[in-house]
Amino acid sequence: MTQRNLWWIRDDLRTVDNAALSQACADNAEVVAVYLSAQQSWGEHDMAPIQADLIQRRLQQMKPILARLNIPLVVREAQTLTGQRETLLSLCQQWSVAGVFCSQAYQWNEGQRDRQLALELAGRGVEFHCLQDACVLAPGTVLTGSAQPYKVFTPFRKRWLERLQLAPLTVRPEPAARTAPSAIASEFTALAYPLKDSTAWPVDDAALSHKLQAFCQQRVVDYQQDRDRPAIDGTSGLSPYLALGMLSPRQCLAALTLAQPDCWEVQESGAFAWLNELIWREFYRHLMAQFPRLSRAQPFHGWSRHVAWRDDPAGLARWQQGQTGFPIVDAAMRQLLATGWMHNRLRMIVASFLTKDLLIHWQHGERWFMAHLIDGDLAANNGGWQWAASTGTDAQPYFRIFNPTTQGQRFDPDGSFIRRWLPELADVPMGEIHQPHRWPGAARLDYPPPMVDHSQARRAAIETFKAAKARG
Ligand code: FAD
Repeated sequence: MTQRNLWWIRDDLRTVDNAALSQACADNAEVVAVYLSAQQSWGEHDMAPIQADLIQRRLQQMKPILARLNIPLVVREAQTLTGQRETLLSLCQQWSVAGVFCSQAYQWNEGQRDRQLALELAGRGVEFHCLQDACVLAPGTVLTGSAQPYKVFTPFRKRWLERLQLAPLTVRPEPAARTAPSAIASEFTALAYPLKDSTAWPVDDAALSHKLQAFCQQRVVDYQQDRDRPAIDGTSGLSPYLALGMLSPRQCLAALTLAQPDCWEVQESGAFAWLNELIWREFYRHLMAQFPRLSRAQPFHGWSRHVAWRDDPAGLARWQQGQTGFPIVDAAMRQLLATGWMHNRLRMIVASFLTKDLLIHWQHGERWFMAHLIDGDLAANNGGWQWAASTGTDAQPYFRIFNPTTQGQRFDPDGSFIRRWLPELADVPMGEIHQPHRWPGAARLDYPPPMVDHSQARRAAIETFKAAKARG
């Protein structure tokens, strides 16, 4: 009798280069694909409505592709991790499933769910295969000479590059067509929570592949100089796809190597700079897998628990709505609200502003980002926030604090990004665009003066962090 397997789709929303799908399909087994939707799927964080919409559109797009492979797609709602486990167990029983295949989760709560599920499935004679497929190199395989995880990026990258040479990239073929499981039809439960239109982001494989290849063949060459300029389309814009596994990091590396064969050697090149970012992505995932406290809302460094964060709901609301009076911060926050995406340089600036100028706990920012980002990714987001807040490993030292005005002058010199998102500053001349309160016509503007004096706020933050560190 043909074996029947279940492919549990998680953050690996793709049919190409997918270890779980390929293995579920081995030996001509029948396969059913299952997606369990949950609003709170990122640990304890809400999923952004725009990210949920992207997932829903992607599943709709995958359905006919899977149908051509005779694989029905079943989408069910299961809001909690316990609910997901119970639904999976009941589907396995109902369909007489022999093996469950999925991509391994690196977050703590999801890992606990999987460990329990593995035991329960084993008790019923069902195999559970959790395959490491979200990183190029599996967490736990890039270690120091004394077999410890790296806590600093540069030696991690060196070792990562060495290991990659030992285990060259292989991109898996698409699974071939197979017999359809009888009496199991595709079913699609629409996500029950509010969605925000994500159609600016294509979801079909041809468009994704074109976006990846066009970037690797052309714009990556200038990535080094363009990547910090938010007014320029200088980065790949692939983060939503990488976060949800619509593209695998292996596919990205394969496209980069094909287009820029010397990307591994020339460290000053745009291609190497881009590769570097993909390795940052791996670094944060490895850290999250190896340090469970990161998934459990705790700082990397214990001393930072003593930071006397300010409780300031009104200040937080002004930051969230882009009303701080610092144009580069406000333009960035409005870009996030309107589009669900924000440029990396701006993520660093707004995170520094919240945690240092306003001394508001980084967890408020982390939560706001997860609730609004189309590319929300627990590891990258937590890593970015703890970097900016100086509470993470290999983070920005607490005494190096971004000046939001000079950051704006440096990275948006003519203010074109600011003007795009703050139409109320349209009449402000170029020379005053980063400090509109200094313009003689400022009283006429529907725009607030700066909510803090940056020099004073900087001194206060340094004193606060110094005191926390002294307490250990
Ligand atoms: P590119 O510059 O083209 O980079 C290519 C890919 O590398 C990205 O798509 C992304 O997968 C990865 N990458 C790039 N920079 C980083 C980085 N610093 N850390 C980890 N991976 C990186 N990225 C997310 O994917 N999801 C998040 O939730 C997220 N939250 C962040 C929060 C803060 C406070 C900060 C400072 C950064 C955050 N980042 C996050 C990282 C980074 O800002 C985005 O990955 C990047 O802006 C996405 O744009 P891109 O695809 O054009 O990137």
